[in-house]
Amino acid sequence: MKAVYLTGHGGNEVVAIGERPVPVRRAGEVLVRLHAATLNRVDLYMRDSGAGITHTLPQVMGIDGAGVVEAVDEGQPGLQVGDRVLLYPGVTCGHCEFCVRGQEVLCTSMKLLGEHRDGTMAEYIAVPARNAVPMPEDWTFEEAAALGVNHLTAWRMLMTQARLQPWETVLIFGIGGGVSLAGLQLAKAMGARVIVTSRDADKCARALALGADAAICSASQDVVREVMRLTGKRGVDVVFENVGAAVWDSALKSAVRGGRIVTCGATTGDQPGADLRRVFIRQLQIHGSTLGNLAELHDLVRFCAQHRLRPVMDQVFAMDEAHAALDRLASGQQFGKIALRLA
Ligand SMILES: [Zn+2]
Repeated sequence: MKAVYLTGHGGNEVVAIGERPVPVRRAGEVLVRLHAATLNRVDLYMRDSGAGITHTLPQVMGIDGAGVVEAVDEGQPGLQVGDRVLLYPGVTCGHCEFCVRGQEVLCTSMKLLGEHRDGTMAEYIAVPARNAVPMPEDWTFEEAAALGVNHLTAWRMLMTQARLQPWETVLIFGIGGGVSLAGLQLAKAMGARVIVTSRDADKCARALALGADAAICSASQDVVREVMRLTGKRGVDVVFENVGAAVWDSALKSAVRGGRIVTCGATTGDQPGADLRRVFIRQLQIHGSTLGNLAELHDLVRFCAQHRLRPVMDQVFAMDEAHAALDRLASGQQFGKIALRLA
């Protein structure tokens, strides 16, 4: 089968586009003919370093994907050949302390597609049957693929960790990236008020067009001062953050007393000052979050279908154009998800 796979680490030279063996489906697994995958920042990390992530080369890239069930055990509940599915990206053990209480995202031996094992930028993948989730009826495969990582991450951040309420205000840093845009869409659909930030005035304008209530252009405006102006000097209830060190101080200063800050990333650095006095005096709650549980993915799919909410897509590339797709991701110019068409 044709696949995009890593032969080493460091730049596009190590990203090969060529033949890999079709995975062999075992009992309890589903073989999926993939139609689309979308790109995530971790793909660049795997390409350039992969340090700290146990994996074996060559390895197929890609953490999210969607396609059609090609083979599955007879009588597998809720799944049959021909079903259009999207993939939950984590393969979990099913029996550790966390898995048994439905917190498989905390599984001590979770293996992520495209990180610890072959991923989704290929014509076929075999995963445990529970990892295949029926996708919304009228969605494209590119849109469905985008749901499994970014939207799931944003869903868990807002719903499970921050417990965002419809009457609350959320501040989303760095609008334009997949998780931030997913956060904007989900928070608006939940009925909350959303303020976004970006250094890029054009991205601010596009976020407003997508329904953001206010946008702060951090290249020309002071984020904390603007947040206080927009909230009557109160601050926001929830800060949604994956930028890291560059904005952490503003994140702490933008939250209302007792507010919640949820972080799922640290693109600009992971060791900011902590300002513990502010954290305890103002009783701020800081939540770490990554991905989500399988049950959360099922809830998310239903929520998106009900609210007619679709992921924002940036650009779709053919599998042969994987290098250009990775370059676009690295450029940071995208607004929404970059997808690879695999069929
Ligand atoms: Zn487990």
